[in-house]
Amino acid sequence: MLGAGVAGLVAAYRLTQAGHAVDVYERWPGLGGQAATLDVGEGHLLERYYHHLFSTDRHIAALYDELGMPDELEWLSSSVAYFAQGRQWPFVTPLDLLRFKPLPPLSRVRLGAVVLGIQRGPGDPGPFENVTARAWIERWMGKAAWRALWGPLLRGKFGERADEIAMVWLQNKFRLRRGDDASEEKLGYPKRSWEPLFAELARRIEAGGGRVLIDRPAARLAPGFVVTPGAPGSFRAGLDPRAFETLPDERYDAVLSTLPNDVMDGLVAPGLLPDAYRAQLRGIEYFTALCLLIELDRRFSPYYWTNIGDDALPFVGLIEHTNLMGAERYGGRRFLYVANYLPRDHELLGLDAEEVLERYTPGLRAVNPAFSRDWVKRLWLHREPAAQPIVTVGYRAKIPALKTPVRGLVLANTTQIFPEDRGTNYAVRLGGDAARALLEWLPG
Ligand SMILES: Cc1cc2nc3c(=O)[nH]c(=O)nc-3n(C[C@H](O)[C@H](O)[C@H](O)COP(=O)(O)OP(=O)(O)OC[C@H]3O[C@@H](n4cnc5c(N)ncnc54)[C@H](O)[C@@H]3O)c2cc1C
Repeated sequence: MLGAGVAGLVAAYRLTQAGHAVDVYERWPGLGGQAATLDVGEGHLLERYYHHLFSTDRHIAALYDELGMPDELEWLSSSVAYFAQGRQWPFVTPLDLLRFKPLPPLSRVRLGAVVLGIQRGPGDPGPFENVTARAWIERWMGKAAWRALWGPLLRGKFGERADEIAMVWLQNKFRLRRGDDASEEKLGYPKRSWEPLFAELARRIEAGGGRVLIDRPAARLAPGFVVTPGAPGSFRAGLDPRAFETLPDERYDAVLSTLPNDVMDGLVAPGLLPDAYRAQLRGIEYFTALCLLIELDRRFSPYYWTNIGDDALPFVGLIEHTNLMGAERYGGRRFLYVANYLPRDHELLGLDAEEVLERYTPGLRAVNPAFSRDWVKRLWLHREPAAQPIVTVGYRAKIPALKTPVRGLVLANTTQIFPEDRGTNYAVRLGGDAARALLEWLPG
């Protein structure tokens, strides 16, 4: 198994359940991949990148049950706002939408009706796959809805690629956020962070005779399922496996990789995978997540989640974790994530945490004019290069197959989560699918 993110750990666990001993190679000195945690001090763990679950995330909820950890998940009332025209507008209920002044009154009604139609409709992604979100929204919700709401949101997430994003991406966001209660949204969060889930999966993999090897990346994968491990500390050399110092080879019966497409492409020995499959690996672009986590000495805003709908602000979202999971949980400490998605060559990705904070400060003041550097107690900055696959029109045809052309080699990563878009829930589902695909190839 390559990668100890959610997909890798779940796939390794499923293979263990089927009677196989699985070695898991992980580049980072910790488990969980994009959902990994960091120790923020005083015994508290927080995800490096903000994480919550929707009520529709049934695969991961079922996994918690299956592992005997049903009480880990708490379902908490969420509060969402949209920042536009210099203020945060509450944005959860139909009434919030009716009061959303950045849109003309008739557009609000039209938008509400169209979103409801998608949420309650049959859910077939087909009609939304080959049209851009912009064209579809302008046609069905009106130009004002694109201009005042969806355009800024998609530009925040996809920058200059916003106009190319397929409507299916947004259709699924609408559908997956359809709760039973229109007046309130409940979000799930594991009260001790995501870490206990990873630890339990690792424990079960090891109990089945496998090894979970952190700080031990795969540096090369050669025919005959020969894995060349990278030496400890390889993560300091970056993501490209060709830059790692290596340890002696290990040979396996089969390999399941959960690495991002570009890392996988850099890992495979020449001739292992046909050119057509490698071209597919190169054919999907990712945006990098840049996430500044700020410990504050006070509350920043009344909302858990604020979408930024103003192109002048240099970030896309504010996620005040302690407005979901109360600050009491962290001994009264307060945490705010400032979210951003950027193309890989963006200059912000070269800055350190203090520099990023300095760039963001005018934007933070636009949302809360009282904000000052004195409120900041600590900063952490993380960058995830393979955070967001760019889902353009015709995306389905670009997805690399789970079963690669090499018998015994399976690839399972976020580019294959479609039409739903990546998330830990779908990584759980993908891990199961990938293990099943590999088991079809394994004897017994
Ligand atoms: C900013 C952000 C916010 C998010 N918010 C949410 C949320 O609110 N809710 C939610 O459910 N999901 C959220 N997600 C998405 C979720 O975290 C991912 O979809 C999920 O964790 C992906 O799991 P994975 O195992 O497929 O991939 P990854 O987690 O990317 O796992 C791949 C693993 O491979 C490892 N690796 C890389 N190179 C090598 C190598 N050469 N050898 C061995 N290992 C290697 C990586 O270190 C990593 O651990 C968010 C993601 C981001 C970036």
